[in-house]
Amino acid sequence: MKIIYVGNPILRKRSKEIGVFDDSLKSFVEKLTEVMYTEDGVGLAAPQVGVLKRIIVFDDGSGTKTMVNPVMLSFGEETVVMEEGCLSVPGVYADISRPVSVRVRYQDVYGDIFEEMLDGYSSRIVQHETDHLDGKLFIDYISHGKKIAVRSRLIEIMKGNV
Ligand code: ZN
Repeated sequence: MKIIYVGNPILRKRSKEIGVFDDSLKSFVEKLTEVMYTEDGVGLAAPQVGVLKRIIVFDDGSGTKTMVNPVMLSFGEETVVMEEGCLSVPGVYADISRPVSVRVRYQDVYGDIFEEMLDGYSSRIVQHETDHLDGKLFIDYISHGKKIAVRSRLIEIMKGNV
């Protein structure tokens, strides 16, 4: 299992819902979590290892969390700017504005349904990771001026210089 980088068309595709909660799902989640920690990430989405399934794992500092089929039910009105990076866009960091809080519905590896109100760091990570499931990357939110500044780095990544 390996991280794929910006420029790989898989990162721009929509991932598929999980309908079967079996042992292979659990072992996939374990491997995905392992890759996240090995790569020093705080979050990782299945498409980032080339698997188009709606699964994210993250650790906001309070332990590993897994969300299967996460759905954003609503966003808070207030927004906040935070610096983001991404294992699939190595070496690029940018200030991104997103809603402070989000209400999310998801399933665990057993298929049980949960609903949670998140804010702060966990909200930010879940918004970033769930974007991956819809083929979106944080660099899509970068303002035009700043995009010019990161363009040369993006070209380097796409050439394979990660
Ligand atoms: Zn990312």
